[in-house]
Amino acid sequence: MRACIRATGSCLARKSQARSAVILIFMRLSPTLDKLVDALKRLPGIGPRSAQRIAFHLLQHERDTAVKLGEALLAAAAEIRHCARCNTLTELDICETCASPRRDAGLLCVVESPADQLVIEQSLAYQGMYFVLLGRISPLDGIGPREIQLERLLARATDGLVRELIVATSFTPEGDATAHYIGELLRARDPQLKITRLARGVPAGAELEYTDVNTIAQAMLDRRAA
Ligand SMILES: [Zn+2]
Repeated sequence: MRACIRATGSCLARKSQARSAVILIFMRLSPTLDKLVDALKRLPGIGPRSAQRIAFHLLQHERDTAVKLGEALLAAAAEIRHCARCNTLTELDICETCASPRRDAGLLCVVESPADQLVIEQSLAYQGMYFVLLGRISPLDGIGPREIQLERLLARATDGLVRELIVATSFTPEGDATAHYIGELLRARDPQLKITRLARGVPAGAELEYTDVNTIAQAMLDRRAA
């Protein structure tokens, strides 16, 4: 049995060495390829193997796509910036949402990212303004109130136009901590300002018996008149 385990161990070690050798050979193929794989590896959810697969796929089968992708990335990096009022991604100094006279300037929704803002827009349930934090408070990652520009949010929320601040940060420990921090700061600065948080509850289309107990508990606490 021991010999078998030892044999399996040495077999695994040989396989791992062989894999390293393959990667080494691949890396020596071309410094340009190496650079491409390194760049792809930085994308969220893409590990070294996926990065290699994407690089090979683009160069073997999708040359046109590779060129279009490169051009689109260059154009986006050159043209897209952050809105001077809400921080979202835009090609203008002030984004279309902030510049729109049809939006309710009395409602300000705080989100963590442009992607979160987009989801709320797609819901068609909100017609107010936004402030995009571009992050959330996470002391373990060294992200504090200064990194997410809370002073700018406080100035915006207390400019006399905003009636209600809707905190739509994620329902994660960091998102909850950020929401709590924003609430505390704003209540101290402007006790009259209405501060709300997105309700959390059972997702649309979900069966109760398959919903996790924390969600059920929160839905029970946040229940409203039917
Ligand atoms: Zn904007």
